[in-house]
Amino acid sequence: MKKEYIIPIFVPHLGCPNTCVFCNQTKITGEQKQVTAEDVKNTIEEYLQHFEDKENTVEVAFFGGSFTAIEEEKQIELLEAAFEYVKKGQVESIRISTRPDFINKQILKRLKKYKVKTIELGVQSSNNYVLAKAQRGHTFEDVKKASRLIRLYRFTLGHQMMVGLPESTMLDEINTARDIIKLKPKIVRIYPVLVLKNTKLEEEYNKKEYEPLSITQAVERCKEIADLFNKHNVKIIRIGLQNTEEITDPKNEKSEVVAGPYHPAFRQLVEGRLWYDAIVSKIKQCNTKVKLVEIKAHPEDFNNIIGHKKENMKKLKDLYDVEVILKPDENMKNGKFELTVEKTYDDLLEEARK
Ligand code: SF4
Repeated sequence: MKKEYIIPIFVPHLGCPNTCVFCNQTKITGEQKQVTAEDVKNTIEEYLQHFEDKENTVEVAFFGGSFTAIEEEKQIELLEAAFEYVKKGQVESIRISTRPDFINKQILKRLKKYKVKTIELGVQSSNNYVLAKAQRGHTFEDVKKASRLIRLYRFTLGHQMMVGLPESTMLDEINTARDIIKLKPKIVRIYPVLVLKNTKLEEEYNKKEYEPLSITQAVERCKEIADLFNKHNVKIIRIGLQNTEEITDPKNEKSEVVAGPYHPAFRQLVEGRLWYDAIVSKIKQCNTKVKLVEIKAHPEDFNNIIGHKKENMKKLKDLYDVEVILKPDENMKNGKFELTVEKTYDDLLEEARK
């Protein structure tokens, strides 16, 4: 299978007419200056040099900010710079992320012209009250309209949602995931809210008007949401903000994170919980008291099966007194497993009687 390389180009807060309470875009993207065509060219050249396998596909991704809210001339400047590499066959496609209220037919026609393939929309919540509280400046109706139009123009649709926004409950977030699924995106990103420096949310946090989720709460919510997306075949391409020098442990001097459910392996915590629940559910279906099981799965899933710092194995032993043998099988589909009971308590008693 061809591997997909991404060349990230950050357009921090460029053109965005808004200031969402949680956003400090220049900090998230780690850059502050205006991106130019020259920057796009240099970044692409640098990445292309380091890609080993020329057979793989390459995508240029304009991350951060709200791409289609940037003034038209600048958008064209950046798109043209990236499109040069598409024309030369060194890049397959272009991806952008933007706000739902900056999508219309004219914008989509322009993006098509430059071979943009994927458009990711910042949805954040389907509850208009939560969106207003976060000062998003758009409603869920805008998301619906934009999503339909993006699909009509045959782009790959991506959605981003947040967990732990002010006054958002777990039910709001599960409903958001359900509402997103109805709009048929191919890919999603799930971001638990972190309180960043120099944001409105930081002020609310300092005044004790906003309390961030704990890591356990955020993992629990993200797990439920991820489960829904998995069941509806919506590919989850990220859970949690990417770790950078600034998006790091709040104890770190350089960290821009003031508070919130930051964890360097957040996605693994969520995936680990999903595996744990699936394994426990299978064990409970065995009509006997189980002592030792074998789990056959793809080796790429082993880290998540074992859990962060072997958490899943420890919990299975401590709570259910079950031990696990892992059997690698490259033919197993990712996310799937087969569980075989190797030893029950009856077997143990039998052995003791001999
Ligand atoms: S729309 Fe995006 S870039 Fe603009 S303030 Fe909100 S989160 Fe930041």
